[in-house]
Amino acid sequence: MTQEFVNQVLKTFDTTAEVVGLDPRAREVLRASKRIHEFSIPVAMDDGSVRVFQGYRVQHNDVLGPYKGGIRFAPDVDMREVQGLAMLMTWKTALLQLPFGGAKGGIAVDPSALSEHELERLSRGYIDAAYPVIGPEEDVPAPDLGTSPKIMAWMMDQYSRLNGFAVPAAVTGKPPELGGVKARLVSTGYGGVVLLRKFMGGDMEGARVAIQGFGNVGSNAAKYLERFGATVVAISDAGGGVYAKDGLDIKAELDWQKVNPGKSLIDWKDRPQKAEQISNEEILELEVDVLVPAAIEAVLHEKNAKQVKAKIVLELANAPTTGEADEMLEKNGVIVLPDVLANAGGVVGSYFEWVQNLERLAWEEKQFLERLERAMEGALVDVEDACEEYGVNLRTGSYAVALDRLGRAVLSRGFS
Ligand code: NAD
Repeated sequence: MTQEFVNQVLKTFDTTAEVVGLDPRAREVLRASKRIHEFSIPVAMDDGSVRVFQGYRVQHNDVLGPYKGGIRFAPDVDMREVQGLAMLMTWKTALLQLPFGGAKGGIAVDPSALSEHELERLSRGYIDAAYPVIGPEEDVPAPDLGTSPKIMAWMMDQYSRLNGFAVPAAVTGKPPELGGVKARLVSTGYGGVVLLRKFMGGDMEGARVAIQGFGNVGSNAAKYLERFGATVVAISDAGGGVYAKDGLDIKAELDWQKVNPGKSLIDWKDRPQKAEQISNEEILELEVDVLVPAAIEAVLHEKNAKQVKAKIVLELANAPTTGEADEMLEKNGVIVLPDVLANAGGVVGSYFEWVQNLERLAWEEKQFLERLERAMEGALVDVEDACEEYGVNLRTGSYAVALDRLGRAVLSRGFS
């Protein structure tokens, strides 16, 4: 699957390169990953044994600035997956006009199977291994699937220990007491929701929404969807999902999650509202206006794409739709707001955090959210213009804006 994922990213890249007439020299450069790192990370386990975990960091391209991208902790992480995700980061930072390149990292691990101390040793071990190739001016990691502010705090601390003094700008997504920004935590979900609102003409009152994945991204998206008048009828996590015809109470779900860490939302048996249990497959096929995949890759594929009844798919997860599914959705008139645009609020938020750390000053939350909203809406305008100019869909339009900017930058910097 992960080789297919890289091929799919490259296929969209190649198609778009043709559409925008990308210079062949820039095309050659942008197809390749600049640096690929693989680490073995030994961890002393609580029972006295030692386990070695595989870690990765792919630095795809830095023509526009330091590499930037999250670190993912998940059991099936491998080099190819990380490579595909690193490419998406390069397109995403270029699309949002951020002074960053694209990278991604990961460790093949199920974080829920480790104790807190084991998780801390693993997170610190990743930084020990990656230290020579990361840093605030070189490559700035962030959270992703399975990683949290607490993990970013350990990583910032480990980087600072190795460096000899505190370097808050070494990673983003930190807790507020370490130079993190509270609004960074909500920025992927918030960015996706303000983008959707703008796409829907500024009004999402009464829109019915189903969200697969209720972690950082999915739960914050739910919160803002509800705040802006949409009705969230279904949510899910790795354990399964719940559906309530008249809408779920998102605040109650978040409160329950807070006091029941590590539990699946299907474990809440005495929910005051009437809600029926559904599977992670069923949630994708509900009669809704908007479907939000916010968990893992390739959940929409050739076998289920035909059953999608939503009018809009807001891709808050990275690469939730396979190439075949993408074509089928388009054929059926389902509009896909693609990952590189829809979930870019995360890296915009990370950029704002990094800037504040470098400048040693704090913005007000209102300023953070307003600038984030402007960035997302501006990117949508750029993409819609490109769609019109080239007669393409939103995914190709997003790639077109990014590749045009990247191509010009590659040529300006030149070749040896
Ligand atoms: P998270 O670990 O906080 O949450 C992931 C959620 O998905 C959890 O509810 C988990 O239970 C659920 N999940 C895991 N496996 C699943 C499965 N097989 N089926 C259904 N649900 C499953 O992760 P996150 O940070 O919210 O990231 C979610 C997605 O958003 C990922 O694709 C990530 O790459 C993407 N993303 C995240 C950010 C960010 O800022 N965190 C930014 C851009 C994109």
